[in-house]
Amino acid sequence: MRTEPLFLTRKSESEKKFRDSVRMAQEAIIRSFSSLDKPYSGLSPEQISELWRENNTVPEYGQSLEAVIERVASNVLSHSAVVTHPTCIAHLHCPPFIAAIAAELLIAATNQSMDSWDQSMAATFVEEQLIRWLCELFGYTESSDGVFTSGGTQSNLMGLLLARDAAIAHRFNWNVQQQGLPPEGGKLRILCSEAAHFSIAQSAALLGLGQQAVVAVKTDETYRMCTVDLERTLDSLKDQGLIPFLLVATAGTTDYGSIDPLLSLRAIADTRQLWLHVDAAYGGALMLSKQHQSKLAGIELADSITVDFHKLFYQPISCGAFMLKERHNFRWMKLHADYLNPHDEAEHIPNLVGKSLQTTRRFDSLKLYMSLQHIGTNVFGEIIDYTIELSEQFARRLEEHQQFELLHEPEINAVVFRYVPSYIPDHYDADTWSDELNAYLREELLGQGVAVLARTRNKGRACLKVTLLNPETTIADLQFIIDQIITIGRQYHLEEVR
Ligand SMILES: *Cc1c(COP(=O)(O)O)cnc(C)c1O
Repeated sequence: MRTEPLFLTRKSESEKKFRDSVRMAQEAIIRSFSSLDKPYSGLSPEQISELWRENNTVPEYGQSLEAVIERVASNVLSHSAVVTHPTCIAHLHCPPFIAAIAAELLIAATNQSMDSWDQSMAATFVEEQLIRWLCELFGYTESSDGVFTSGGTQSNLMGLLLARDAAIAHRFNWNVQQQGLPPEGGKLRILCSEAAHFSIAQSAALLGLGQQAVVAVKTDETYRMCTVDLERTLDSLKDQGLIPFLLVATAGTTDYGSIDPLLSLRAIADTRQLWLHVDAAYGGALMLSKQHQSKLAGIELADSITVDFHKLFYQPISCGAFMLKERHNFRWMKLHADYLNPHDEAEHIPNLVGKSLQTTRRFDSLKLYMSLQHIGTNVFGEIIDYTIELSEQFARRLEEHQQFELLHEPEINAVVFRYVPSYIPDHYDADTWSDELNAYLREELLGQGVAVLARTRNKGRACLKVTLLNPETTIADLQFIIDQIITIGRQYHLEEVR
């Protein structure tokens, strides 16, 4: 048996090992962030794979932690996206608050599990307190409840699951948990906009309804769900004898940040007796902004809400929540395990396992708790306001240049645009040329380490996307990217002409 301490205990040699280890990790991170003035080293997938071919053995005998950290620093940290860099702006992939990183250390070291109270005594109350705060923030009531999740995908799955089981119980007097899907299962339909997140279709598949159950409603020119098309679709489903039971609204679509008209959707859901789930994975953070909160008006009327904290709440991955307007609906997923203290309930001891799809679960709420305590909701709101203002400015800059086409007015802080070629070679189709050029621009910006941008498609055509979550990104950083794109685009034309 080795003598080197493996765990943090009261022994002084163990405390020293812990301090040294954390300090080494800390130094490695600081070094990797300060040595790179680019958002990415620029290595291609082939080059990274090559690097790893030499480092893929698991040794029989261990080595010093210092050596291990060194190798991770040079092979992993050095070739990671620098999420705090002002031009690392591709996805809903945020720089994490320092307060939350400190919280991660506390979470890992204490290793509380949120399933039963006897594995997370004080932690249970931190999570419950934050859930109360979230219920108030989203305009929910005393009878509302929620739970922390691994993110939007899990929260959406929960929303769909509870809506499915509640609908089937009410309509067919049938218990899905016990009996599986009823014979009418194949007729159930979920409506969401064509801009909704793919996890809706994925959840429908997982829930045995099949992707056929998801009916995409058209969006209008601002990428919001079109209520006229929704009504038309509902009528048509009814005519076909199908059974719509759930309407999923998106508050902050992943590409455009567009927000579906929540109040109108609530009214339609009421008339048609549909559960309304609001996927606010991205846009939920607007509740903290005095300036933009009104964009989510009506969210308090949703039957359930998805919110992600590892996006516009600046938490390290993973951190999300699922909110439920009427807590009694959690009953559709509750199962009992004898070893998880079923008699605690009678004694009012909270075991959170009954509200989650997970059993063992991280104490992620501590990150959000510490961030809110440290930063306060005012600064939180100002950060969000700044990034929305920045997106607005960026959109105006794009419009000033004839080389760019802005594909929408930014609603939150995602901006989708396209580089417009000034010239199309004879043997090329205009769309193909534009698609190839836009794809090339993104790769070149990444390869040169200038910026990490995302690509997406708009009406089938390639375009570029930025998600401006970082409050340290300035309009000068974005102008730099615009200039680089113009330079690279011009070069591409010249090479082709030659
Ligand atoms: C990111 C996102 C999701 C998925 O959330 P994860 O945390 O990545 O699982 C779902 N819906 C929307 C609108 C999102 O932006």
